[in-house]
Amino acid sequence: MKHRVYMTRLIAGPAISLIEQVADVRIWEGELPPSREVLLTEVREVDGLLSLLTDKVDAGLMDAAPRLKVISNLAVGYDNVDVAEATRRGIVVGNTPGVLTETTADLAFALLLSAARRTVEGDRWTREGKWKTWGPMTLLGYDVHHATLGIVGLGRIGLEVARRAKGFDMRVLYYSRTRRPAEEQHTGLEWRGDLPSLLAESDFVSLHAPYSAQTHHMMGGAEFELMKASAILINTSRGSLVDQKALYEALREGKIAGAGIDVTEVEPIPLDDPLLNLNNVVITPHIGSASHSTRTKMAMMAAENLIAGLQGRLPPNCINPQVPKE
Ligand code: NAP
Repeated sequence: MKHRVYMTRLIAGPAISLIEQVADVRIWEGELPPSREVLLTEVREVDGLLSLLTDKVDAGLMDAAPRLKVISNLAVGYDNVDVAEATRRGIVVGNTPGVLTETTADLAFALLLSAARRTVEGDRWTREGKWKTWGPMTLLGYDVHHATLGIVGLGRIGLEVARRAKGFDMRVLYYSRTRRPAEEQHTGLEWRGDLPSLLAESDFVSLHAPYSAQTHHMMGGAEFELMKASAILINTSRGSLVDQKALYEALREGKIAGAGIDVTEVEPIPLDDPLLNLNNVVITPHIGSASHSTRTKMAMMAAENLIAGLQGRLPPNCINPQVPKE
C-alpha cells in the first residue's frame, strides 16, 4: 500500500511531484494555515506530515496520528515541533538547514541597513508628499560602515551576517554558546563571554540563536538598558527571543535608536500592537528565507527528508537521529 502524506501548505511543484512518486498526498491549499481541527482530522491516517513553522506539532497531534513515522518541517527552526515527544514515539523529524542560511543573512543585513538609514520611513515620507526639498537635517540615520556589530548566536546564519559585515568594514563581536576560535582567526571576529559586554559595545545587535527555554526573552528591559542609545536591534531568529513589550518601551523612550525585526512574539503581529505606531522599527512578515531559489531548495530538502522517513531511513537532515531505524 502507498504511504499517505499530509502537507499543510502548497510548496514548490517539483517537491510535490517527488513525494507523489512514493505517497498519496493530500494538501491544504489555503493561504492561511489549516485550523487545529482540520489538522487533527487530516493526520488520522497519515504516515508522513510536511509541516510549517505555523503548525503546532505536539503530543495531541501525534495522538491523533497513530501511523505517523516522519515529520518534515519546512524550516531550519523547529520550535513548533515537540521533538522529545516525537523521539519517544519513534517518529523521525527533519528540517531544512543550510540552504536558507545566506538568504536569511541577506534579509538580516537588509533590515540592518533599512533601520540604520531609515529607508522604509523615507519611502513612507516620500509617498506622503513630505519631500519638499533637500534638507540638511532630514531623516538622519546611523552609519553602518565601520560600526560595531554584535552577533548573538554564531551559527550558520550568524556567521554569514558577520561575513557581510566585514564587507562594510564593521568590527564584529559575537556571543554564542560555543566559542569558535577558527572564525576568530579567519574572519577576525571578537568573542565576548557574556551578553552584557557585547550589548554595551555594539552599535548593532543581531540575534541568531534558536528559540529555546534558555533564549526566551534573552533581550528584555535590563538588556535594553545596557545598549547604546544609538544602537539598533535586528531580529531574524524567533520573536520570543525578545520581550516585545520591553522592546516597545526601549524604542519609545529612546533607550535604543531603532530595530529591524522579521519575527514577532505573536505572528502575524496583531494590528493593534503598539510597535506598529513607531517609526523607528522596520517590521517584515517573517520572510527571512523567502527567495524563489531558496524556497524551492527548502521544499526539495523537506521532500527528501519526508521520503526517507516514509521508507524507514533516517532523513538526510534529521533532528533526532537517535530514533531507531526500522
Ligand atoms: P544554527 O546554525 O544552529 O546557529 C544557532 C547558533 O546559536 C549556534 O551557534 C548555537 O550554539 C547558538 N546558540 C544556541 N543557544 C544559544 C544560547 N542560549 N545563547 C547563545 N547562543 C546560542 O542555526 P541557524 O541555521 O543559524 O539558524 C538560527 C535560527 O534562525 C533558527 O533557529 C531559526 O529560528 C532562525 N531562522 C529564521 C528565519 C527567518 O525566516 N526569519 C530563517 C531561518 C532561520 P552552538 O554552536 O553551541 O550550537
